Amino acid sequence: MKVLYPGSFDPITLGHVDIIERLVRLDYDVTVLVAHSSRKQTLFTSDERVALIQEDLENHFKRRKSDSFLSMIKIEKFEGMTSDYMKMNSIRLIVRGLRAVSDYEYEMTMAQVNRKLYSEAETLFMPASPEFHFVSSRGVKEIAINGGALDHFVSEPIRKALVKRLSERSMK
Ligand code: ADP
Repeated sequence: MKVLYPGSFDPITLGHVDIIERLVRLDYDVTVLVAHSSRKQTLFTSDERVALIQEDLENHFKRRKSDSFLSMIKIEKFEGMTSDYMKMNSIRLIVRGLRAVSDYEYEMTMAQVNRKLYSEAETLFMPASPEFHFVSSRGVKEIAINGGALDHFVSEPIRKALVKRLSERSMK
């Protein structure tokens, strides 16, 4: 069965990878949908975010000797309503990760809105694994800006990409 895992992924974190891995282990075919918004400021462009996700997932599954999972994952960027992407691609299930209670209100609203826009859409909430409960892309950027250690939050290539992008920015 196909599921959609949408988000900004600016950048992908170990928390995102954990959700994707749990989904493919459950036999879901996962489309990771990178939201491209011209209004929202992101550190990486949508094409860069897609490339980083691709690289990160390849490394992750190859390291675990489970490359076969890679064929169950598709990564795409999309500008527009998630519900429209779902209709166009015959996907009826969205997955969202839930961390703190603070995620709940927003996620509940989004789930209702998506169902109003596409009556067949269902949202599945997956609890964050305890070790990634506190990991967010936003937090990761804050830590990177302040020169903190990122090893429990993102993979090494993502850490390098973050540091590089931030140093390019500070030179401008
Ligand atoms: P963030 O909230 O980290 O900026 P995104 O908008 O890219 O991230 O999130 C995409 C999806 O991944 C959302 O459903 C979000 O709740 C989920 N998610 C983000 N971080 C984690 C995590 N550490 N554990 C589980 N789910 C997560």
